[in-house]
Amino acid sequence: MELNEDEKAMWDVGVFDAHCHPTDIMASVQDIAKMHARVLTVMATRREDQPLVVDSAKKYLLEDKVQYDSENYRGVVPAFGWHPWFSHQMVDDRGAQPHDQIDIISHYKSVLIPQPDGDDEFLRSIPKPLSLSHYLQATAQRLEQFPFALVGEIGLDRAFRLPKGEFLNPDEVLEKTKSTVQEHTPGSREGRPLTPYRVNLEHQKAILKAQLQLAGKYRRPVSVHSVQTHGVVFDLLSELWEGHERLSKRQRKRRQSNSNTEAKSDVMEVDDAEKPLPYPPRICMHSYSGPPEALKQYLGNTVPADVYFSFSICINFSTPAAAKAETVIRAVPAERILVESDLHCAGDRMDQLLKEIVVKICEIRGWGLEEGARQLKQNWEKFVFG
Ligand SMILES: [Zn+2]
Repeated sequence: MELNEDEKAMWDVGVFDAHCHPTDIMASVQDIAKMHARVLTVMATRREDQPLVVDSAKKYLLEDKVQYDSENYRGVVPAFGWHPWFSHQMVDDRGAQPHDQIDIISHYKSVLIPQPDGDDEFLRSIPKPLSLSHYLQATAQRLEQFPFALVGEIGLDRAFRLPKGEFLNPDEVLEKTKSTVQEHTPGSREGRPLTPYRVNLEHQKAILKAQLQLAGKYRRPVSVHSVQTHGVVFDLLSELWEGHERLSKRQRKRRQSNSNTEAKSDVMEVDDAEKPLPYPPRICMHSYSGPPEALKQYLGNTVPADVYFSFSICINFSTPAAAKAETVIRAVPAERILVESDLHCAGDRMDQLLKEIVVKICEIRGWGLEEGARQLKQNWEKFVFG
């Protein structure tokens, strides 16, 4: 990559990818060491990529928060989540019905719209659903193993449809990705034709809510995907925030003048940084495509979580979306903007996309490239570490 002086200054400050998927081409993970980007926040999305994200986090282990200040450092912050595109593969077995007693066909009939009645070819191809309880346990262990790990990619999506085809078992996957070069990690769409089936929002919401609560329990940030579901995501978060809203300025004043003891107990609650929360403390709306008006809801004074908005060239600056993205980027407070590649492969193209989005944001906000890089670095640090 040819670098002008401003770009060199930008990379020297450090560029931090808030959301990407290099494990989709596992062979590209070795190229992270040669990249310009300082740290990648690497998402897991489905059964097949959870162990691969563990592997890449071990390979580029971030051991403390200041390590990445060195210009030569390259690191990975892992994120463990279950993407809405794969939510039908998970059965909510936290209630009365144990996982091993679940009828495969009736599970898929209850989560898919339209119901796959009479579609024998499809019903024969579906695997046994996985247990949400087991997944939550495994994810909790991964969060403990990696103290800086996030929960992601999670979310809701009203637009996607299930692809046709079979699924591999995860042990085969690991062997396969080790033995082949530049091969796509299985489990995603991979150009397969689509079925007419979607996952109903109720089921998607149950899977999302469980993961938001897990993130809250471990006080970890989350990376959220939302396509045509902005209102529903906000309502779900609001449900979790209920009873924990921050006091508005006026309420705070009134409390202070009313009683000193009450004010003290507030402070105690804020200071207890170890206490599990019923909601994630920090939220990144990844490749945010919602309307500018919706920002106000997320940035309201009483919202107890810090909400960040992340932007990518691939999604936010595709032709029909670009004008909206510019309006949104102008309206987001400087300290809540993040950048991401959302790319499936580490290497030069990821660097290129990161550079382009940093340049774009700096242009829109009227920041110099080095100044912008500093702001974006600080934002990423606050998002990841609090
Ligand atoms: Zn993604």
